Amino acid sequence: MNEENKTKRPLDFIRQIIADDLSSGKHDTIVTRFPPEPNGFLHIGHAKSICLNFGVARENNACCHLRFDDTNPGKESSEYVEAIKNDVHWLGYDWGEHLYYASDYFDKLHDFAVELIKMGKAYVCHLSSEQMREYRGTLTETGKDSPYRNRSVEENLELFSQMKAGELEEGSCALRAKIDMNSPNILLRDPVLYRIMKTHHHRTGDTWCIYPMYDFTHCLSDMLEGITHSLCTLEFENNRPLYDWVLDTLATPCHPRQIEFARLNINFTVTSKRKLLQLVNEGHVSGWDDPRMLTISGLRRRGYTPKSIRSFCEGVGIGKKESWIDMGVLENSIRDDLNVTAPRVFGILDPIKVIITNYPENESEMLEAQNHPQNADMGTRLVPFSRELFIERSDYMENAPKKFFRFTEGREVRLRYAYLVTCNKAIKNSEGEVVELHCTYDPESRGGNAPDGRKVKGTIHWLSAAEAVTAEIRLYDRLFSVEYPDADKEKNFKDFLNPESLQVLSGCKVEPSLLNANPDDRYQFERQGYFCLDSKDNNSEKLVFNRIVTLRDSWAKLAGKG
Ligand code: ATP
Ligand code: MG
Repeated sequence: MNEENKTKRPLDFIRQIIADDLSSGKHDTIVTRFPPEPNGFLHIGHAKSICLNFGVARENNACCHLRFDDTNPGKESSEYVEAIKNDVHWLGYDWGEHLYYASDYFDKLHDFAVELIKMGKAYVCHLSSEQMREYRGTLTETGKDSPYRNRSVEENLELFSQMKAGELEEGSCALRAKIDMNSPNILLRDPVLYRIMKTHHHRTGDTWCIYPMYDFTHCLSDMLEGITHSLCTLEFENNRPLYDWVLDTLATPCHPRQIEFARLNINFTVTSKRKLLQLVNEGHVSGWDDPRMLTISGLRRRGYTPKSIRSFCEGVGIGKKESWIDMGVLENSIRDDLNVTAPRVFGILDPIKVIITNYPENESEMLEAQNHPQNADMGTRLVPFSRELFIERSDYMENAPKKFFRFTEGREVRLRYAYLVTCNKAIKNSEGEVVELHCTYDPESRGGNAPDGRKVKGTIHWLSAAEAVTAEIRLYDRLFSVEYPDADKEKNFKDFLNPESLQVLSGCKVEPSLLNANPDDRYQFERQGYFCLDSKDNNSEKLVFNRIVTLRDSWAKLAGKG
């Protein structure tokens, strides 16, 4: 997407193929599709495929279909269908009237299977799945024909209709394509086309007890919809000859072209619905939309913008070679976006009280603060100032070194947009903990500078205690503490969950202006990071903010130090 950059960058290999097909007249227009299986929520990997399929369609004034590949009823549900539709829309794409379900083609797919049987190109096989595996052979060993391979067309038609009628047991037989048990491509060694599954389907109910396999369904669905370019990830490269075999054998009126590209892999996470489902089901996260999950819904709740995800996908690009993208690249995409768009406010994660002893009691004033220091167009707001303030506990240090330009006894610091303030005394409780700082301000320094021009290096954020609003702030870190959580063959990926991925801070303080925030508003809490209201847990009793991302990449710094 990111239409601005499109013209400057050379076309990726898929866009080049499409451009060539249009200019050669092979196609007048193109049709693409995004074909999720509704067996989980979409993740950041799917975003890459969505941006590619819907993106190339948009660039060519063409259509991209949303098609649910719902041929595996045991694992699929309409809850997932709705979540997927919602996510695609939120990312900024629209399928218009082109919403399809593979299950809508069950009748047609069945008829195509019957046609293959009649052509002598498919047969019902009674080998168990284990036997089938044995007969299939390996990369170095050819396969062996099934003893059922040469039964008559009539017998196959009869058996297939018994399968369909529910007269045969699950697992007792399957319909297989009759291709070549000696093919170097194992997927062409008589692949299964239909299996018996006496399972309720979320759309077709109990109409069917046989369900078509992916390789049979996908190419025919593409063909039925007139897809021109069927874009999928590299692991389907070996499936392409089967895709083509089905369409060639049935001599279909159109033959979409399957093109594979490298999937998106990001370190410090897992992108597999099956694994994400385990995290959800076993309670390692609060749900599919847990803000630590790299699902689209998790990223949305965390505070990522659709634009940042689109520009991330665009930046990653489309290639033919598998690679790993650093999580920091995704985090930078949201930083880059929010750095420009997010208004600045004050939020204090760990507050400590400051008393300005020479400021009149019962008085307060409003000071003007900029909403974005680099963008005057974003305007200003008024923040209250008074005798009792909060500052960040970490902005005070006992016996601080010379280079600590914040509060320590005897040191003068600038309160941003307010006054120069000198810390005179730290008050401790009986445990020796500092609970309050007694300070004096220079009334002549309103706005933050002294009339005598004396230099004050440190500038910190603050809030007036009476008006500050209490909030809970959730700090998120990466869900896994190692770069490749699913690379270890001996260990389970869940062994690498980062125990510190969620830190809940209560008693934080934020500006009163944030009482009007809604979850789509994103803010920079100055010096702290980017935050937004949580869309779920926040209520009239409790304000809950999510940290979207830190201001800087703390992981890169750690890595650099080795
Ligand atoms: P998962 O392994 O997470 O279940 P999947 O490929 O089985 O992923 P589908 O719902 O079948 O999930 O995927 C829909 C589309 O998204 C497919 O075309 C698939 O190639 C693409 N896709 C899935 N994961 C990625 C990824 N990591 N990068 C790019 N495209 C992806
Ligand atoms: Mg899949």
